[in-house]
Amino acid sequence: MREPVGPADDGSVPDFDFSVVPETDQSFENALAKARAEERLTVPDGIELLTTGTDHDGIDPVRKEAVLEAADRRRAAVVGEDVTFVANLNNNVTTACNTGCLFCNFKDTAHQFEADHDGEHAGFTKTPAESRTIVEDALEMGIYEVTSVSGLHPAFALSDEHHEILAAHDDPATDVDYKPPAVYETDPGTYLEQMRAMSVGDVHLHSMTPEEAQHARRGTEWSYEDVYRELAAAGLDSAPGTAAEILVEEVRDVICPGKISTREWVAAMEGAIAAGLDVTATMMYGHVENEAHRVEHLKVLRDLQDRTGGITEFVPLSFVHQNTPLYERGVVAGGASDAEDELLVAVARLFLDNVENIQSSWVKFGDEKGLKLLNCGANDFMGTILSEEITTRAGGTYGEFRSFSDYVEMLSAIGRPPVERSTDYRKRRRVDPDDPPHGPRLGPRADGTPLLDEAERGSRPAASADD
Ligand code: SF4
Repeated sequence: MREPVGPADDGSVPDFDFSVVPETDQSFENALAKARAEERLTVPDGIELLTTGTDHDGIDPVRKEAVLEAADRRRAAVVGEDVTFVANLNNNVTTACNTGCLFCNFKDTAHQFEADHDGEHAGFTKTPAESRTIVEDALEMGIYEVTSVSGLHPAFALSDEHHEILAAHDDPATDVDYKPPAVYETDPGTYLEQMRAMSVGDVHLHSMTPEEAQHARRGTEWSYEDVYRELAAAGLDSAPGTAAEILVEEVRDVICPGKISTREWVAAMEGAIAAGLDVTATMMYGHVENEAHRVEHLKVLRDLQDRTGGITEFVPLSFVHQNTPLYERGVVAGGASDAEDELLVAVARLFLDNVENIQSSWVKFGDEKGLKLLNCGANDFMGTILSEEITTRAGGTYGEFRSFSDYVEMLSAIGRPPVERSTDYRKRRRVDPDDPPHGPRLGPRADGTPLLDEAERGSRPAASADD
């Protein structure tokens, strides 16, 4: 683990001496020709497209448009004009976490949650019963996907058996980041109990990132596949491929030295897929990494998909820098530019020739840029997200609810058909803009009634998840 990073001696943003750098022997023109011809791209091809050519500094606007156009055409050829979205809710169980990722402002150091701790904190932990109530209420409104991504609470264990194994360590807090639930003000229950609680009435439960899966097997020799099988038996339906950040070790060493390695992340994803679960894949970019790291990351995902075919969508997450330690300590000056966001989505579409769906996240990008990215290679516009906690706490301003009417209005304005989908994309329904009111219909209790009326909407706290 590295020493904590901070600004350079002169106070400026530090320059990292990375070994992976955006230099290639390829030309931009050759890379673009390959992309247009739908040939599989190499890492150097991807770097040329993402940088709009390593033969000059900065982004060339004309070349950028050529890349975006190639990606938009590929999107149309692969998935057509439909733009999909899902009726979902985020229910994050706890913000207690000791991992200390420098891009994250979602967590609160776990000792603050201990019963004898003096002082206030803004975090929360939900019991399984509280999670169940939240999901039941959402299901009643027509929601059919629940996403749950949480901090790594030291009292969280997979099961009672796992509690016993963790407690038997000589120094559980230091050895395996474990303290018994009795130490804390609120007991989050076990992961299996939370899965059972949130798996209500055919709702699709999307939870247990690779990092959480590792936490659910820490201190044991259990395989990821076995852990995911137990979670699936308790109600888990698919796993979010967050905690990926940038899947290159020299970047992880800087931004999340306490987190699992690239190898572990891939092993966890393979375990989830072997256990019969679909997975998504993410990338969080726009911090200390360069374009070569971004393309190396895409290569890891493409290889994983070649081996497994289990990735349903790729979700690019532009780094929200405000209020994060990376920004506050002067390690980064800001996030990605609009042009970088557009190119990242476009190159992902062109490079990931084996992943059908690319998401544009309005939580990370806002509506205007989110819509623009649907013309740069993306085809999915995320979900309704009835609560957003992670991004809003990090300073994002887009953490609000989007209704089906919002989707219909926004997508009609750009001339694209709004299509409601299930989490796994296997069920789809075109929404007729001329037949309001608009509400979800694919869920077990979804009958087309809008999720919230305007009055309720105004009173809801902003809230979502994901790294
Ligand atoms: S990103 Fe996840 S693991 Fe890292 S500090 Fe935040 S909550 Fe903890």
